[in-house]
Amino acid sequence: MEGRLPIEKTPKGLHFWPGDFHLDPKRGVDRAVVSHGHADHAIPSNREVWCTPATAAIMHARYGSKLKSVIHPIELEQPFQINGIQLSFHSAGHMLGSAQTLIEHNGIRYCYTGDFKTTHDPSCEPFKAVRCDVLITETTFADPEYDHPSDSDELDRLEAWAGYTWVVGAYSLGKSQRITRLLTERFPNRKVMVHPEPAVFHRIYEDYGMGLGEWEHYDHHAFKRTNDLILIVPPKVLSSFHGRPGIVTMFATGWKRPYIRATHHMQISDHADWGELLRLVESSGATTIMAVHGSGTELQNHLQKAKPHINVIL
Ligand SMILES: [Zn+2]
Repeated sequence: MEGRLPIEKTPKGLHFWPGDFHLDPKRGVDRAVVSHGHADHAIPSNREVWCTPATAAIMHARYGSKLKSVIHPIELEQPFQINGIQLSFHSAGHMLGSAQTLIEHNGIRYCYTGDFKTTHDPSCEPFKAVRCDVLITETTFADPEYDHPSDSDELDRLEAWAGYTWVVGAYSLGKSQRITRLLTERFPNRKVMVHPEPAVFHRIYEDYGMGLGEWEHYDHHAFKRTNDLILIVPPKVLSSFHGRPGIVTMFATGWKRPYIRATHHMQISDHADWGELLRLVESSGATTIMAVHGSGTELQNHLQKAKPHINVIL
């Protein structure tokens, strides 16, 4: 593709200048397209926001009166316009409400993935492949070292801790709901208790039709160290349980070198691994790729050799 791209990296974030809107801006702007509810993508200070209805509900729950935006909730697959530019959202498979943004302009299709994964996740809408000319993708785990194990293999490994109470640290939004769904399904004989911070988002998931199985609110009076209990807490709370007799602490993350102390690490990722990223490039048909969030150097080096017709912009 020749000439200046209509989408550019700026200090405030990705800017689609023909329509003067930003994608997941880091600082407040007039018009923001927000891909999903994680705080590094959904900030409260934009004037107008376009996002899916579930992302809007998450932003309201998280920010309350601090939310300064007029929100335009748009369903997946429904076309809409900003300043005359045609857009649509398509599921990103990252968490509830997460969406890729397809922008169609002058006959060229631009797809911004936001955070995404293509593997099965029973707690959110499945990833939808989108054909495009220009792919703007996250490259969090864009390294051949990252080949995520399956969820079922990771759940199998937990059998080794059968005689203990499990306290699982997981991010309050996205990871906690997925872990709750996986654990309630796989270990129906264990009672699952959920810390109040993630429980707020559990309710939103359920409101949007994502059943998470049987769980109850964490009550420290009812919390007993028994071998039929699982407690799900935010990462910052996990350390207070670490080293207590009869308890195994677990941390759920996609990173191979976890940064939270725990007895056991569950490698469960909400971001695509190397193989998923290469398959995304293939299925998109894109000939220009822009890397955001993480380093795209490995991807650029790989595609220069494997697919020299593809131009990678870092
Ligand atoms: Zn995210």
